[in-house]
Amino acid sequence: MKQYSHAWIAFMAIKRLEETAVSNTYKSYAESLIKWFKDYKDGVIQGAWYPDMIIKDMATSHVLKFTPIKDGSKGYFRKLPSKYLFYEYGKNSDLKNYSYSVDKDNNLTDRCESIAQSVIDNLKMQTSEEKGSPIAPNNNHIATILFMLSHYIADAHVPFHCDSRQFSEGKNIHGKLEGVWDDEIKKYFLLDKANERFLYNPQGYSLLNKEKESQYKNSFLKKVEDNLRKRKFSATFGMGNNNVWDFMSAICQHSYLLSYSFIPQGYDHTNVTTSNWKKLGAIGLEDLNIAVLCDAIDSIAKVYFRIW
Ligand SMILES: [Zn+2]
Repeated sequence: MKQYSHAWIAFMAIKRLEETAVSNTYKSYAESLIKWFKDYKDGVIQGAWYPDMIIKDMATSHVLKFTPIKDGSKGYFRKLPSKYLFYEYGKNSDLKNYSYSVDKDNNLTDRCESIAQSVIDNLKMQTSEEKGSPIAPNNNHIATILFMLSHYIADAHVPFHCDSRQFSEGKNIHGKLEGVWDDEIKKYFLLDKANERFLYNPQGYSLLNKEKESQYKNSFLKKVEDNLRKRKFSATFGMGNNNVWDFMSAICQHSYLLSYSFIPQGYDHTNVTTSNWKKLGAIGLEDLNIAVLCDAIDSIAKVYFRIW
């Protein structure tokens, strides 16, 4: 996923928490997280891009790539929350009848779990240390880790990050797909490029370009917003998923299924072309965009809320 998509998704996750009723018991947690995020929002575009720009662990920690194994054995697929579009599209996938292997050294799920733990550790240290203590982590530091975490969570939702076929080669369909998302965000939301941040609306979220408001109604980004507004927020990770690692495993497995619903078996980088790539499978480009962005936003909201 590209830079502005990562940042926009993180903002949308916080907006989701703000717009959706969270039970009274937990409301104060959600509110303090939202306030905290908004205080540090100028760093989101940079922080959420840190993994690509500075850490550069793309080949191992931004991916969990699956290959179907057709030896008669059945694969194990974790459950996802039933409101997830990834769950809906993966439900009847043929690939569920097969086992799979995961590419060597891929560790996206471990990365998400470790960063989530790191946020929790840093928050605990900050609360227990006195102000000014040399070992107390500061807010900027914690904010950066939190923004980085959203990057890895979002990447798990990119189907080509979970499919061992080489879609960055050939016509680079991987790059084209991610370009579709980033171009749409840059088209409709106003950026302060010099300072690497969005311009904000009065609520503190990415500012929609007023001149393009009527066109925006037809954008898949608007459909993402509408879809999420109808989906009640729940902090659950799906039955049997007890932590971030379990949850991200379920996401990656379904991301792999979604990749094959979009580009079916029999296709790879040698026969997918710039003219056929958008409509080869059971799911078309627009529905894929909505599924990826909606579920990524929901997942970041869930994980942020749980670790906070
Ligand atoms: Zn990445």
